[in-house]
Amino acid sequence: MVRMGDARLCVMCRTRPVDVQWRPFCSERCRNEDLARWADGRYRVAGDPVPADDGATDDDSHEA
Ligand SMILES: [Zn+2]
Repeated sequence: MVRMGDARLCVMCRTRPVDVQWRPFCSERCRNEDLARWADGRYRVAGDPVPADDGATDDDSHEA
């Protein structure tokens, strides 16, 4: 049993106590999830619609 008020909960899942090895998370899994969430958010924020088609009309790959 974990002493209430003493053990901090993982900031990710908030259900399991923090593991000193993965502070402030309970496991590597939660830490990775947090990282993935940050990366995902960054992608969306900086995800400006970049025109892939720059007017280049090389239809080489079309012919087969
Ligand atoms: Zn967790």
